[in-house]
Amino acid sequence: MTGDDTATVLIVDDRDENVLALEVMLSVPGVEIVTARSGAEALRLILKQEFAVILLDVLMPTMDGFETARLIRMREASKRIPIIFLTADPELELVSEGYAAGAVDFLVKPLNPEIVKAKVSVFVDLYRMTRQIRRQEEALRLAERERGEAALKESDALYEASFNAAPVGIAHTSFEGRWIRVNPRFCQIIGYSREECLERGLQDVTHPDDLADELAGLEQLASGKIGTYHREKRYLHKLGHTIWLDVTGSLVYDHAGRAKHFIAVIEDVTDRRRTEERQRLLAGTSQFLLRSLDHRVTIDDVARLVTTSFCDWCVIATVDRTAENGYHLAAAHVDHRIGNEVTELGRRLLENPRFCRSLRGSDCSEMLTDLCTRAADLWDLDDGTAGLLRKLGCGSTLIVPLVIRDQVLGQILFVSAHPGRRFGALDLGTAQELAQRIAMGVEHARLYREAQEAIRVRDEFLSIASHELRTPLTPLQIHFQRLLGPRRTPGGVAPEQLQRILERCERQVHRLQALIDNLLDVSRISSGRLRLQTETVDLADVVREVSGRFAEELAAADCHLVLESFTPVVGQWDRLRLEQVVTNVLGNAIKYGGGKPIEITVEVTPEGGRLRIADHGIGIDGADLNRIFQRFQRAVSSRSYGGMGLGLYITRQIIDAHCGSIKVESRPGAGSVFVVELPRSAAALARVDSGPHRALSA
Ligand code: ADP
Repeated sequence: MTGDDTATVLIVDDRDENVLALEVMLSVPGVEIVTARSGAEALRLILKQEFAVILLDVLMPTMDGFETARLIRMREASKRIPIIFLTADPELELVSEGYAAGAVDFLVKPLNPEIVKAKVSVFVDLYRMTRQIRRQEEALRLAERERGEAALKESDALYEASFNAAPVGIAHTSFEGRWIRVNPRFCQIIGYSREECLERGLQDVTHPDDLADELAGLEQLASGKIGTYHREKRYLHKLGHTIWLDVTGSLVYDHAGRAKHFIAVIEDVTDRRRTEERQRLLAGTSQFLLRSLDHRVTIDDVARLVTTSFCDWCVIATVDRTAENGYHLAAAHVDHRIGNEVTELGRRLLENPRFCRSLRGSDCSEMLTDLCTRAADLWDLDDGTAGLLRKLGCGSTLIVPLVIRDQVLGQILFVSAHPGRRFGALDLGTAQELAQRIAMGVEHARLYREAQEAIRVRDEFLSIASHELRTPLTPLQIHFQRLLGPRRTPGGVAPEQLQRILERCERQVHRLQALIDNLLDVSRISSGRLRLQTETVDLADVVREVSGRFAEELAAADCHLVLESFTPVVGQWDRLRLEQVVTNVLGNAIKYGGGKPIEITVEVTPEGGRLRIADHGIGIDGADLNRIFQRFQRAVSSRSYGGMGLGLYITRQIIDAHCGSIKVESRPGAGSVFVVELPRSAAALARVDSGPHRALSA
């Protein structure tokens, strides 16, 4: 038996001999006896310690046993202590009063020690068992609490570890918006250290445009109108640039169910938002470019579009032959108030030779960290332009060429005016994709313009060709009428006159044939069917023969032909085609020569031969010198001069097929000199045989 099992018995009796007798009777191990000589003393003792049972004498002076028992029962701590009354007079009335006062039993004096012992021991055992149960309960409670505390500690540690290692940002936020606790990922996302975060709050980093909505959302959360708060919103990173966050917020409660603070989980979705923006930007650009075939309008729109989301300002310079300086310039700034200044900068850059060289020269993109510093080296800017650049704000910059089929059509400058906003690889990809679409738009517009021009030229040609084909038909018709018509002389047409009329008819038929041959040649050239029949030919001989055919026309034009140097020049050529060349060039010299003398030279060159035909007629404007060798191209008005604009085109194709060249020198009013060079080499001709016709395509 341990000390813990000791049960204390309180004996209350005013008589010493009774107390002593009871002490003797109850003196057993494990039972401690405490005695009191009055009810008042007993009450005092009960206040101080616990008792297994109270043996209470009924008859005591001042406060009798029943009174004492009633007072004991009134107190919460002592109301369950069993009370055994000691009485010498077990009257029924007394016994019932005793039970009413809280007695559990009665012992009648004189006391029988065995009965006293037995009764007391029942209550002592009961007391011990109760204490035992209480102890076990206590132990159980303790164990439970320890387990609870351990579980709490474990869950705290787990939360701490998850909090610190979470791949998402977590922040505990006070109702005022201050950050109370933040995890490392949160700090990493917004760029501030833990300490800096704890000195700040939502209001300091939320993008001004999103703040009102953010505060309204938190208000709803705090008032219980919504259970969770979920938004995608913008924060300002410590470096100053905007980041996009996916934020989920909710309330944290204490044990009593009171809301303590907010908890927010954030994810950085800037890249996803940028990708979405990029898609939107590219789609918007395509839409603009498809809207109109005037690339100048569409590029202006695109410039404005990119400054709404991709960069702060941009300059797009594209080749434009119709523009005075050869370029179309589109410029825009996110701040429309200084849009004009970007245009002014673009204008100045286009006057800068180094910038213009770089504009057409490079087909590589460049990513600059600071345009202000690099621009000086790149383009050697004057102070005014450099100042303008600084005023517009220039940090991270992308310079992207506009390239289509290996041809550089211009350049775009995408500039971030904000030092915190740096372009990266993703942005460069976007810029290149944009440039590609713009280049395609420019090219489509150009092709469209050219197609329109080709249609215009074709229509003009059809009208000229019809006119040209009718020209020989009219005299032919007149001649036939003279031969067959009613006003014919009665004796018929005299033989000499008939001969003359038929010769004129033949000339018109030749003319018609030549026109139709030209048309057929164009079709042959276009389909690569122009074949050369080469043989040994003397160029001087060809020139002499063709000139002879022009005798009548020369006479009619009162034009004198001067054959200056005339040496035989022999080569392997197609005779009929060379006749065609001479006919075309000499025919033009007569047509456009204004009746002035025409000089012809045929001479041997180291490679083969050279034919030079010079007239002193109307001449050709420098701007038209290349164009006149193209199909249907003419540099004169069809009202003043007949012709279909095919002669020089066919001539050039024939000479190309012979691997030769044709050049012209001319000035308006000073006449023209056409020089044809022909190689005699077999190698050159071999190239012709192996399919030069491909080179003859229009
Ligand atoms: P066409 O003479 O039928 O118009 P061509 O192809 O022979 O076609 O010539 C193209 C254009 O070149 C002419 O319309 C004319 O404007 C110009 N041209 C050709 N030869 C001369 C020349 N000797 N002097 C002035 N202009 C010429």
